[in-house]
Amino acid sequence: MRQKGISLNIQPTDAEDLSEDHVGTSAETPMRADAFDLDDEEKIEQIEKHFREIMTILGLDLTDDSLNGTPRRVAKMYVKEVFSGLNPKNRPHPRLFENKYNYDQMLVEKDITFYSHCEHHFVPIYGKAHVAYFSSGKVIGLSKINRIVQYFSKRPQVQERLTVQIGKEMQRVLQTEDIGVVIDANHMCVASRGVGDTNSKTGTAYFSGKFNDENIKREFLNYINSK
Ligand SMILES: [Zn+2]
Repeated sequence: MRQKGISLNIQPTDAEDLSEDHVGTSAETPMRADAFDLDDEEKIEQIEKHFREIMTILGLDLTDDSLNGTPRRVAKMYVKEVFSGLNPKNRPHPRLFENKYNYDQMLVEKDITFYSHCEHHFVPIYGKAHVAYFSSGKVIGLSKINRIVQYFSKRPQVQERLTVQIGKEMQRVLQTEDIGVVIDANHMCVASRGVGDTNSKTGTAYFSGKFNDENIKREFLNYINSK
């Protein structure tokens, strides 16, 4: 479900939990069982080879100075940077702290910039994520929320799944149901090709626990929309 503007409501399905085992649920990135049989270096080598092939088929002259290093550069970028979030070894493990201030209101981390890739075209999706929670007695460092957003962004994604993955990870890490996530993003596959619409944005949301309450939801959305 996807629509423009920030008002929609994707309900979590309670059957799904984000356990480490890669059983295919709708919230999980579809991965093969042998996904990590190759190590990073082996992956880079193979991707380099295949990317060189793609460029050659396109008719490019790979002996040209400017193009020669591209296959390896792309391979490293895929494995070490833009798709590094596929590898569970890169998953952040934030430390929890006692909520010693007894702060019992909503905490919002707004305007978290993220860069991801559309899994249908392998071109960028980028935008802002807004994440909110109520403490269950534990809190995490604010920068850790950014790290969770970055981890799930660095995969081939669809925006809906990215939103749900961040929401579920926040629930798991913070041991609370009370999570709200809103993502506002630009899709280069829409802007730079196909219909060529450079102005449209896509909004998705994940609300669980207290965030299903209309007043709480409104407070969160008002804060996001305030300057
Ligand atoms: Zn796309």
